[in-house]
Amino acid sequence: MYDYLIVGSGLSGAVFAHEAIKKGKRCLVLEKRNHIGGNVYCEDVEDIRVHRYGAHIFHTDNESVWRYVTELVPFNHFVNSPVANYRGKLYNLPFNMNTFYQMWGLTSPIEAKARLETETAGYTGKPKNLEEQALSLVGRDLYETLVKGYTEKQWGRPCVELPAFIIKRLPVRFTFDNNYFSNRFQGIPAEGYTALVKKLLKGADIRLNTDFLDDKEEYSALADKIVYTGTIDSYFGYKHGWLEYRSLRFETETLDEENHQGVAVMNYTAAEIPYTRIIEHKHFENGRQAKTVVTREYPEAWQPGLEPYYPVNDEKNNTLYIQYKEDAAKEKNVLFLGRLARYAYYDMDQAIVSVLETAEKELRMGEY
Ligand SMILES: Cc1cc2nc3c(=O)[nH]c(=O)nc-3n(C[C@H](O)[C@H](O)[C@H](O)COP(=O)(O)OP(=O)(O)OC[C@H]3O[C@@H](n4cnc5c(N)ncnc54)[C@H](O)[C@@H]3O)c2cc1C
Repeated sequence: MYDYLIVGSGLSGAVFAHEAIKKGKRCLVLEKRNHIGGNVYCEDVEDIRVHRYGAHIFHTDNESVWRYVTELVPFNHFVNSPVANYRGKLYNLPFNMNTFYQMWGLTSPIEAKARLETETAGYTGKPKNLEEQALSLVGRDLYETLVKGYTEKQWGRPCVELPAFIIKRLPVRFTFDNNYFSNRFQGIPAEGYTALVKKLLKGADIRLNTDFLDDKEEYSALADKIVYTGTIDSYFGYKHGWLEYRSLRFETETLDEENHQGVAVMNYTAAEIPYTRIIEHKHFENGRQAKTVVTREYPEAWQPGLEPYYPVNDEKNNTLYIQYKEDAAKEKNVLFLGRLARYAYYDMDQAIVSVLETAEKELRMGEY
């Protein structure tokens, strides 16, 4: 008999397992895929660690989370500096002095500030949609070159039909700084994310290729308590309906070249290119291999059977989620954790913080 049956070996399930094992609990992890790690899983191709489910860059302001992961495995000093490709012309991101130079030939922050003020001057009043919001933040040139096509591909809808709140801010910097994130800590596990998850799961029994929902009752009988990190609607047999997601399709190719695009992430911002970005995985780790592996990322409408990547947190889906959340509160022996069970987009650090908070309460309770 186990203390905990953990459904899902992603970061959330693995962090819970790690905390429980530290307290002497016995854990069994069920994973329906043929590998551990959930969406942070990396697989080796040509000695290059390929981020199978999309580029993952660890970035956080939370010092204790940074300490938590870096005490488990070493991290490198990767800094995400994506480049945007619009019809063959390249621009640095996020919007900074390099971008303003590339876009308008401006070389001083004073000129750039004045130009942005002129660009946005005509767009006042409460924006009614994402297009109006973006125009009021950065003006037409930056919006049409770097925001419009990319966002429409991402969401599968014209920006005028998307709500303004999707883009709360478009960070603008008046320095020559291409670091996409402004967090205190940033990097990639030097041995890849799978090594991190392996460390977290040390001491747990793991069954791969095992879907908990295939025999909920039999598996539930194996432990005192369940930690469930799968989709919440599937746990309840979709009884209130399906929660919607945006999905992605990845097209990965090994190229007989040493360096294909010179950067880990290149965004394709024109509408006529069907993918949103090309990832060249070796650049996450400063790779020196003879070949390279690239992945084109195509956003897709989600339908049952496809991987659920991004929750569509609109009113309709959030209302549906609340019904499932109420059901979940009644399941006394089950903890619902992680991005799928909480129907929320979590960056890795947020996923870890959320699990640590729950684990702290849960495991402390168990001590009395
Ligand atoms: C494309 C993309 C890019 C991202 N990039 C970043 C980034 O750069 N930086 C960042 O901080 N975060 C990023 N994230 C977020 C990051 O992926 C999540 O924070 C993290 O994966 C959350 O882990 P999780 O364990 O909650 O979920 P998951 O990783 O989805 O793990 C859930 C696991 O449960 C398993 N499972 C589900 N149902 C069952 C079942 N019934 N039986 C058995 N097993 C089951 C699944 O197979 C999966 O392995 C990105 C997310 C996406 C989608």
